Amino acid sequence: MHQQPIALYIHIPFCQTKCSYCNFNTYARLEGLIPQYVPALATEIAAWGEALERPQVATIFFGGGTPSWIPPHLLAQALHAARTSFDVRTDAEITMEMNPGDVTPERLAAWRGMGVNRLSMGVQSFDDAMLRFLTRRHTAADAVAAYRLARQAGFADINLDLIYGLPNQTQAQWRDGLRQALDFAPEHLSLYALTVEEGTPLHAQVQAGQAPQADPDASADMYLAAEELLAQADYRHYEISNWATPGHECRHNLAYWRNHPFLGVGPGAHSYLGGQRFWNINSPTDYTRRMQQPHPGRWTPQAIPVVEERSSLSDEDKLSETAILALRLEDGLSPAALEAAFGISAHRVAHTLRSLAPAGLVIEDRGLFRLTSKGRLLSNEVFLRLLPA
Ligand code: SF4
Repeated sequence: MHQQPIALYIHIPFCQTKCSYCNFNTYARLEGLIPQYVPALATEIAAWGEALERPQVATIFFGGGTPSWIPPHLLAQALHAARTSFDVRTDAEITMEMNPGDVTPERLAAWRGMGVNRLSMGVQSFDDAMLRFLTRRHTAADAVAAYRLARQAGFADINLDLIYGLPNQTQAQWRDGLRQALDFAPEHLSLYALTVEEGTPLHAQVQAGQAPQADPDASADMYLAAEELLAQADYRHYEISNWATPGHECRHNLAYWRNHPFLGVGPGAHSYLGGQRFWNINSPTDYTRRMQQPHPGRWTPQAIPVVEERSSLSDEDKLSETAILALRLEDGLSPAALEAAFGISAHRVAHTLRSLAPAGLVIEDRGLFRLTSKGRLLSNEVFLRLLPA
């Protein structure tokens, strides 16, 4: 059914504790569900494998939540279901998000043994005061130890996630943290500005005046400082928030940004297949209950009982989404390639982008549009203008 290999995202919606800034679909104090959840997840994976007629999978990403917190043999069950039900390429990139506090040599060996070949470590900061502000359950020393153990275990592809723009964080502290990260020479760095999302405890604290507001100008300065420091260290700034050494770009996330097909399994996971976007129900309990129901006969995409909603995209929608995603990448956007892919004019996109060039947000070079540094900082403004009328 799908010629192009797909990217498979596997959601693990459990965390030992919920961080104050987190608005992901993940839950603390729900670990009692894990033994039933994983077989339900394996059933969804098998169902999709059958419904899609065992397509090729080029990348697998265990995200969450905290995949590193649940017993490795349960993750192995999910991975086994993927390998049984899909044609997982022998060179597949298999990433696991991990919390530094969860790492032991035994767990690392188990993850390696099951085929995980890329780790994404939620370091967030090398400053314990910042980690406490974020209510993370690990310390900077845990992150250092976890990184060293991961290298000793043979992991050769490691991403570090760091957060900047925290209230009271100084430029010097941010630069210092970045230098510490660079001392480890990770293959990949993902840097995210702290956003205070509605509905989170942090948002409530800020509203009540119990936590300071973040300063967007300070945050922008930290982003620019990161661009400078990471360029000096020869990292390629290949996506707005992501830097990598050559050949270590995250293949899984590149599939999203190139608008290639992807399948997300687990509660709240989103998918894009056959020109349709669809997403699953959020509740892990309801998800598990629905996937436990017996299903006679062959699975079809329409029969998967945890899909909450589907939306078919027009060619104009697909063109706009592809343009917005492509602009996130350093590779840039080619209107000619868009027209060839969708068979409709990309004149509106090209015209809009040209109109943003005088403001210094976009540059046009030999048929390719790219965001400038200023454009990356104001990317949401650019993207809003590219949405279909
Ligand atoms: S560990 Fe990650 S997913 Fe879990 S609550 Fe914290 S930020 Fe959210």
